[in-house]
Amino acid sequence: MICGYCQRKIIRNLAVKEIVFPWLLADFELCDSCRVLFAAIDPADSCPQCSRSGVKELCGDCRIWNEQYPEHPLMHNALFCYDESFAEWLGRYKFYGDYRLRHTFATEVRQQMRNYRKNLICPIPLSQERFAERGFNQTTAFLQAAGIRTTELLIRSCHSEPQSKKDRQARLALQQPYALSDNSHLIAGRKILLIDDVYTTGRTLRHAADLLWTQGPAAIGSFSLAR
Ligand SMILES: [Zn+2]
Ligand SMILES: [Zn+2]
Repeated sequence: MICGYCQRKIIRNLAVKEIVFPWLLADFELCDSCRVLFAAIDPADSCPQCSRSGVKELCGDCRIWNEQYPEHPLMHNALFCYDESFAEWLGRYKFYGDYRLRHTFATEVRQQMRNYRKNLICPIPLSQERFAERGFNQTTAFLQAAGIRTTELLIRSCHSEPQSKKDRQARLALQQPYALSDNSHLIAGRKILLIDDVYTTGRTLRHAADLLWTQGPAAIGSFSLAR
């Protein structure tokens, strides 16, 4: 086993289950020293709708979103707090483009996705320009590294400045940047799980959800590595 972050070999005792069913052993997991870098979000100590940590009830942002989208409150689940350590990991993976890091959270992602078995798993798309620049869609890549089958329901029609270079106001004002893909006939009656790497304002996911709702899905939820 290799650590999906520092790439060092992991030597650890196997659980009985892993000895009896060796195929359960993942190729990648986090080593102990890398695991402690990331702060898991505690569901008991975070917003029940968007996973923002440090609040016990519906956060202010979700209240505003729910006024704007009274018919479709978006339930979002995230694994880790977006803190300095996560930002550093994301910088190496996404901006520096270290493709090996798609394996970092494979075990955690696989576990989470068990809660969404009947869902179509749809990564937030990149524009062609961004894809060409980075060489991979960071969200699709971490899902596939976890063995999760993805269905591309959206395409990104317009290219704009990276979200990270915009301030909050500019991000919230962004026009609908997505369009439906050729797979849109799959949406009707299905549960859809939208996936992004990070939930920042929630604007991106709601743009995506807006478009998917026009095709009559049964439900739409969302998931990100960090919030
Ligand atoms: Zn490590
Ligand atoms: Zn919230």
